Amino acid sequence: DPGKRKYHPVSDACWRRGAPVPYLALARTFQTIEGTSSRKCTAETLANYFRSVMVLTPEDLLPSVYMCLNQLAPRLSRIGAGHSRDIPDEGSGASTGMSVGQVRANARRVGDLGVAANNARRTQRCMRPPTPLRVRQVFESLREIARMSGQASVSKKISKIQTLFTACRGCEAKFLIRSLEGKLRIGLAEQTMLHSLAIAATVTPPGPGPVVYNAIKGLSADDIKDLTEKNVLILKSAYCECPNYEQVVSALLKYGLPELRVHCKLTPGVPLKPMLAHPGKSVSEALNRFENEKFTCEWKYDGERGQIHVPANEEGGANLAKAAIFSRNQEDNTSKFPDVLARLPKLLKESVTSCILDCEVVAYDPENKHILSFQILSTRKRKDAALDGGGVAVCVFIFDLLYLNGEPLVRKSLEERRALLLEHFNTSPGEWEFANSKDCNELEEIQEFIDDAVRGNCEGLMVKALQGPRSYYDIARRSRNWLKLKKDYLEGGGDSVDVVVIGAYEGKGRRAGLYGGFLLACFDKQTDEYQTLCKLGTGFSDDELRRATIALKQHIIPQPKHYYRYDISHRPDVWLAPVQVWEVRAADISLSPTHRAAIGLAASDRGLSLRFPRFVRVRDDKTPENATSANQIFHMFLDQDRIEFTSRDPADDF
Ligand code: ATP
Repeated sequence: DPGKRKYHPVSDACWRRGAPVPYLALARTFQTIEGTSSRKCTAETLANYFRSVMVLTPEDLLPSVYMCLNQLAPRLSRIGAGHSRDIPDEGSGASTGMSVGQVRANARRVGDLGVAANNARRTQRCMRPPTPLRVRQVFESLREIARMSGQASVSKKISKIQTLFTACRGCEAKFLIRSLEGKLRIGLAEQTMLHSLAIAATVTPPGPGPVVYNAIKGLSADDIKDLTEKNVLILKSAYCECPNYEQVVSALLKYGLPELRVHCKLTPGVPLKPMLAHPGKSVSEALNRFENEKFTCEWKYDGERGQIHVPANEEGGANLAKAAIFSRNQEDNTSKFPDVLARLPKLLKESVTSCILDCEVVAYDPENKHILSFQILSTRKRKDAALDGGGVAVCVFIFDLLYLNGEPLVRKSLEERRALLLEHFNTSPGEWEFANSKDCNELEEIQEFIDDAVRGNCEGLMVKALQGPRSYYDIARRSRNWLKLKKDYLEGGGDSVDVVVIGAYEGKGRRAGLYGGFLLACFDKQTDEYQTLCKLGTGFSDDELRRATIALKQHIIPQPKHYYRYDISHRPDVWLAPVQVWEVRAADISLSPTHRAAIGLAASDRGLSLRFPRFVRVRDDKTPENATSANQIFHMFLDQDRIEFTSRDPADDF
């Protein structure tokens, strides 16, 4: 409750109304957040900063939000933070007069390039104090640096960093360098940032009304709690439907929280984070979960997720020229699937003027009319594919309708969404099909349907609530209202995990010239770290290993990132930037004295590791930060006694 802490957004701020927000104000906020382990304190500290920005310099709210997230633009635009490998070291070296080697040695010693840079700054003297940095200026510079490309770009980037670095005061250098590296490492998750923004807008409401510095004064503690919870939900829902901070922040400032949902709605063309499923361990678990409720089972197709968006045109009809298909990761896959979009006229009935469909795109053999494996789909060109799919035909299996003719449907039941899907869309065999579904009731019926799905080359079933609020489409959430029953773990094989490759070991013998083994990590969202999970050296075909080696060689880095957590005994021959996500299957998860995954959760001094891991496939549709998280690994570890894992031959271990 920041209202009680007597923070005043005007008199406690370190800048004047209308002045650009000093970068130092944000850096000090980061510093305080870094120094606390309390989520409440984090949320309040950031909320107070946001309150001051909203009252004094609202135009700096958007850059502040982006800088908290290490984001430089809406996710869709793909302008990323985390810049060229050595630029931050070279930039800080150039500005402190140290060699890159010295900078790296210092960073190794203190374990953090940001801290090393800050220490180096303290020993420097300036002839004349430079103009203090502003939040918007730092943000714009980060954007410029990210956009620079071409021959002279490295020296231009270094000189830009040098200019910023020379002007740093206090703790600014530390956070500037971390922003350049693409990781703030202050334990500030996006959900907490949204929470803080909602608290700020509750206490000091922006919008068309008069400014009230403390709108919760005089309210009871219960009322404050209720109001805050309601507002957090409003803000998070608005962002889920419209995942674009430019729109959300500007609507918040202009219309305030009560009107936010009216101005931030699902919009065809803006991809949303999809609803995700929980693994179910048995058919009876599904029956228990949906006891006394209507539910449905759908085949779980093994392809890649496709979110198809068709906006309306000015005449009010469907604008097929602007139709797009997005990945699970909100990446624009339109040029990967031109064949799919070319077939849209067969799908849409005349009644459709705009829509968003949730589907699985699956490799398909049109001659023999059957589904092909994911491995075949992964051989398809990732960009600018030919209209005939370059030899890999696909069929789209539609399983949900999220928006139709100007209306979001996410708050309608699955039963209603499905009825609208059947009413307004056509199927076309081998091109557009509705996911095969059955509203089962009995255990045997579900078991038979799983067997059918497996015979049809599917992974198993998705079991979904059909009626009432539990069947709403939960944007961006992994929900227990969708249970995935994969044949593998029903048969006792354990679920697979998606992990990040951070290092490689040179191959020997038959694998000479290639990498023979890899160091894998999961991402811990709380600490912003990649924590090692296992070494892996099996499961590849020769061709997969050759392709992995070629792809990964482009991402070698001279030293481990400061946010890699590993034990020296696993030091690989080459370190790799965290870019590739691999699906890996393992015999089980065990406590490890040397691996660092979920350290502190399962045991204070030990992490978790995968036993007998095997490579399954590359997951191009997942970013490293969307890979299986440390927390998920921890929960899989806890659930193990309920999943019967099969042990494989220890010789398989790398
Ligand atoms: P997750 O997406 O849950 O992180 P994942 O990407 O490894 O994990 P799975 O665990 O295999 O995917 O299961 C979820 C995925 O299954 C969905 O993202 C979707 O792409 C796919 N899928 C296939 N058929 C369906 C269906 N009928 N309903 C929902 N999703 C389906």
